[in-house]
Amino acid sequence: MLDIVVRNGQVVTPEGVGAWDIGIQGERIAAVAVAGTLPGDAAEVIDARGLIVVPGGIDPHTHLAHAIMSHPEEPGITLGPEDDTRGMAYGGTTTHLDFCYVRPGTEIPQAIEQRAARWKGNSYVDYAFHVTLSGALDLRIFEQIPEAIQQGFPSFKVFTTNILPSHPKRQGNRLDFGRIGFAMEKVAPQGGLMVVHGEDEDLVQFNYERFRAEGRTDGTNLHLVHTKLSELLAFRRTVALARALGTAVYFVHTSAKEGVETIAEARAQGLPVYGETLHQYCCFNAEYYKTPRGFCSHTYPSLKFPEDQAALWDGLVRNGLSTLATDEYPTSLELKLKGRKIDDVTGGNVGAEARLGIAYSEGVVKRGMALQRFADITATNAARIFGLYPKKGVIAPGSDADLVFLDPSVRKTLAREDFHVTDYSPWEGWQVTGWPVTTMLRGRLIVDRGKLLGAPSDGRLLSRKIDPVMLRRPAC
Ligand SMILES: [Zn+2]
Repeated sequence: MLDIVVRNGQVVTPEGVGAWDIGIQGERIAAVAVAGTLPGDAAEVIDARGLIVVPGGIDPHTHLAHAIMSHPEEPGITLGPEDDTRGMAYGGTTTHLDFCYVRPGTEIPQAIEQRAARWKGNSYVDYAFHVTLSGALDLRIFEQIPEAIQQGFPSFKVFTTNILPSHPKRQGNRLDFGRIGFAMEKVAPQGGLMVVHGEDEDLVQFNYERFRAEGRTDGTNLHLVHTKLSELLAFRRTVALARALGTAVYFVHTSAKEGVETIAEARAQGLPVYGETLHQYCCFNAEYYKTPRGFCSHTYPSLKFPEDQAALWDGLVRNGLSTLATDEYPTSLELKLKGRKIDDVTGGNVGAEARLGIAYSEGVVKRGMALQRFADITATNAARIFGLYPKKGVIAPGSDADLVFLDPSVRKTLAREDFHVTDYSPWEGWQVTGWPVTTMLRGRLIVDRGKLLGAPSDGRLLSRKIDPVMLRRPAC
């Protein structure tokens, strides 16, 4: 006997989109079948009439409980998983990937252990971690990479830039290209992948210096400091290094047309290169910085220009970019708007709760994105690239019963009350058509029509292993 049958929904699977029923046993999907053909004696029937059923969303890029670097004189920390993942549950994200920072003086196993302990019992949804390699790390640390991969942590994040200037004194993020190459050497033969924040350090730091000298320090100039050219140079340099060392690369938060083009060119040559972008990069451009709440939508590198927005949408709707993420960095509105200068605007975003709804409204409704492509960019591709597939990211027999029920008939202007994390959302005032209404995590409803049923003890740490196909060629 099945525990749950979901009937009458429009179900999005890799085989197509159809009026199928979903049978669930325990935590997993047992069957996806022609409507009306599953046994009628299930313990529970969920009527999904009028709803679109998609795989639980996967946000591959979040920074929860993370040190805030924009105001070193007043150290702070972003909201933790116990707060932010409540919004994910409401918004249809059932898995997120955060980061374990390894800085000089830290060992990889210790960094993983600390983050896992911080998350345990504190996340409404499932989770995993990328390992971030940051700073002038001792070469000995790189010898710990194979073991981390074997233990289920196969993705390694690096920054090619410190992002902010070094004064006032801040902990830098950058890993030099020598060490990035060294990490690639260790990662590739073990079945791992590099996750790269690509900006050219020389250009970024020079731009800070120049803009300061010219008195152009207003934050509305951020896109002229973190430039399109900087993304182009760093992406190209990284692709060249990865090609030489035979490593797969995932570029986080692609913001410029030049980034999309570099990724497309590498993929056309058969290189295993994947691109992520963020919904605020698609929906806003640098003009928005001039508005009263403009910095709400700032994430490093920066918002860019209308031509970049068009390229990002094209990459998401058609091909070229693989995932839509958030770079989630939940803070209060006061902190988010505190900095007004190029070197103190708080980056990052509160976007996880809105991610699926915005992708549906802006992608599917406005730009004709196919529903399967919607599932790909919000869930399936992240699962495949980061080694969670087919347990996560797909509606198929044997997969975890992580489902999102999206109501395409919802039409509203998003308001503060539509959100459940911190005291603002950058999406307040945005018009949407379609919104997630119910979320299931491993066979249990965690949000049902606006009611929170889940608990912070629900989420589990996921062990990951990447399919070698993903590391050999651009496979999604
Ligand atoms: Zn990030």
